Amino acid sequence: MNTELHAVRIPAALRGFGGKAGADAVFNLQWHGEHITAITPCPAGTPAQGLLLSPLVDLHLHLDKTYTVQDTGAANGDLFRAIDMIAAHRAGWTRESLRPRMQRALQEAWDHGVRAVRTHIDWMTPDRPPAVDVIAELRQAWRERLQIQWVSLTAVDQFDDTEWAHWLARAVKAGGGVLGCFIYRHPGLPRRLRTVFDLAEAYDLELDFHVDEGLHVDATGLRSIAEMTLQRRWQGRVTCGHACSLSVQTADDAQQTLALVAQAGITLTALPTTNLYLQGSWSETPVPRGITRLSEARTAGVRTCLASDNVADPFFPYGCYDPLEAWALGVQAAHLAPAEDWLDSVTVAPAQTMGLAWDGRFNKGCPADFIVLDAHDGLQAMAPAGRRRRICRQGQWIT
Ligand SMILES: [Zn+2]
Repeated sequence: MNTELHAVRIPAALRGFGGKAGADAVFNLQWHGEHITAITPCPAGTPAQGLLLSPLVDLHLHLDKTYTVQDTGAANGDLFRAIDMIAAHRAGWTRESLRPRMQRALQEAWDHGVRAVRTHIDWMTPDRPPAVDVIAELRQAWRERLQIQWVSLTAVDQFDDTEWAHWLARAVKAGGGVLGCFIYRHPGLPRRLRTVFDLAEAYDLELDFHVDEGLHVDATGLRSIAEMTLQRRWQGRVTCGHACSLSVQTADDAQQTLALVAQAGITLTALPTTNLYLQGSWSETPVPRGITRLSEARTAGVRTCLASDNVADPFFPYGCYDPLEAWALGVQAAHLAPAEDWLDSVTVAPAQTMGLAWDGRFNKGCPADFIVLDAHDGLQAMAPAGRRRRICRQGQWIT
């Protein structure tokens, strides 16, 4: 049976069939079974009845830490205090204590219209963390609805123990994961990065870094990663999250780094909720805010994403699993305009980085998976009422 949707606006960045932004962006949509069969432009001047998005993709989460803030308390802006708070809590984590928290997070993401997530999993111990086993179970349980990727999260100095580092990389490979690493002003970074890239090469792993999450001008890990990516020809296989310090470096320095990041095909992910919370003063009104230079990055040709990061843990005690909240906050905090042009940062761009079979751009024959926002355009989507949505997956309305 054919099913139809009338007069929805499709943002230019989400159209696989071209066409320009503006008044001619309103279409009728038809689907049959699990695929879209026709996308037809409406006559000029047809008012939009909703804003069409492909299902959301959340590129940077921490499902093992989520919903712990009631136990740990909040770190009020102190990243390294948050790290200590979660370390104390982590000592008691078991599969049984992790499963309900992680499951609840995935359910909330699904309810908001998410189709894929990538979560970091703390890996600070000599043996395999129980969260890795839980994520394997959940990946299986959710496989028809959500694609789940995971990244091991280890501080870069832990890779100094080469024997352990090889064991870690083998375990990540065996579990279908991505090799991850936390870097902040670590001494001897080029040497240490060489080890990380050696492992990526040896075990054919993608890389995902937490890098420069702070406001020291000399936090320049992003540039080192870009240089190493180019040297080692690992272009297109590296993601970097945070890069807050880029915002306090000179425009010239930042431009040089971003040119290298673009050349290296690195995806840059901004995490506005957590970074607004953790960066800037807590004893007075914060002035520097720690959002990385998203507009400059995009202009330089870098693939840019927005993601949810921490939810209800000591790093960020608030929040929810709705990437559109991260998008709206990013639009306001980083002055991203027009807002509608940045909707690909929570749909197409992260889908491309995750290597999903469908990149989220609409075309005849693409999956009948979509979200219809109550908003009629990107500006209305900035208000909570505009972000109310209906979700269709595999040709069936689920809300
Ligand atoms: Zn993170």
